[in-house]
Amino acid sequence: MDDPGSLNRIRTDLREFASYSAHTSPDLMKKKFGLSLDEIIKLDANENPYGCSPRVIESLENCDSYSIYPDAAQSELRQKLSLYTSMPKECIVCGAGSDQLIDLILRLTINPGDEIINLPPTFGMYSFYAKLSRAVIVEVDRKEDFSFDCAEVLNHINPRTRLIFLANPNNPSGNTAPKQDIQVILETGVLVVVDEAYYEFCGETVAPWVERYDNLVVLRTFSKWAGLAGLRVGYGIFPQYMADYLMRIKDPYAITVAGQTAAIASLEDKELLLQRIESIIFERERLFGKLSILEGLTPTPSKANFILCRLHNGGAAHVTEQLKQRGILVRYFNTPGLRDYFRISVGRPEQNDIALESIREILGEDTQW
Ligand code: PMP
Repeated sequence: MDDPGSLNRIRTDLREFASYSAHTSPDLMKKKFGLSLDEIIKLDANENPYGCSPRVIESLENCDSYSIYPDAAQSELRQKLSLYTSMPKECIVCGAGSDQLIDLILRLTINPGDEIINLPPTFGMYSFYAKLSRAVIVEVDRKEDFSFDCAEVLNHINPRTRLIFLANPNNPSGNTAPKQDIQVILETGVLVVVDEAYYEFCGETVAPWVERYDNLVVLRTFSKWAGLAGLRVGYGIFPQYMADYLMRIKDPYAITVAGQTAAIASLEDKELLLQRIESIIFERERLFGKLSILEGLTPTPSKANFILCRLHNGGAAHVTEQLKQRGILVRYFNTPGLRDYFRISVGRPEQNDIALESIREILGEDTQW
């Protein structure tokens, strides 16, 4: 790899590219700590602790078209999503996770030297794909409470600004932006990608505005509310001209037969899935209440399915590591502004109880819950 000859084959701007620091795989945990899969409490990637709908399993078992390429037009899924979102089918495009749509939007819009505005700390894939698309990333840091300063965002817009990424609720902080701020940014005419990956946990959306603003894109995913993270199904609601272009440039078979089957089965079982969301929201509030009692940390109020916790005396990496040794995975971000924090996804009640008890012990507190 150090041979300069072989390095020359790599695009110059990618030679120092840092890979996305993904969640710990359960297989690695198994090997490292000798734990079986059901002994691991996985609260590090905002996955659904109840898994997917039983109808998904049934439809996957009964599906007889795995040997046939999927429908490149995504007709049935877009139709069903049109009913779910109350938005026209022509405005909806699906991708292999909303991650893939982030990539496609950048590929569609970025010319060399174009800028994107990012609001860190936020979801890492925006800057990841922006770098791959050779966009110049302009960062407008969020405030201490993780809200962003709308006037500052406006100050950073210039003729080279192509788009702004806004995770709403934001990951990893869980807070939402006032709708009025989103509107003010939209009024500038710059393309705004509002990422509503956690919409079902929060209930706030600007999706209907896509019909009013031709510079608004709303991204959603089946990974969280429907428990399909492993099958990779996301979608976006786009102004129609943009949906048309995305349908042209997307991988023809972006969504697999299994992904389409599972997503449709999830939409057909949405009552059950949304009931589970209610339980997760209830648990989020219970977990938040208990974490608030601990003296060594402060949880951030969240509208998503995770809670970001600030350790008062540092040591967030240590707590994360100690939890890992007990088979409990939470997420530590070794990035500026987040070094005193870990993020815990909301699990099932019994998982949350074990995690809470372990955090209490690691912090050396004798709290009575
Ligand atoms: N956006 C945000 C804000 C996220 O947190 C995530 C997942 N962590 C994604 C998008 C990606 O979702 P998907 O699994 O659909 O690619």
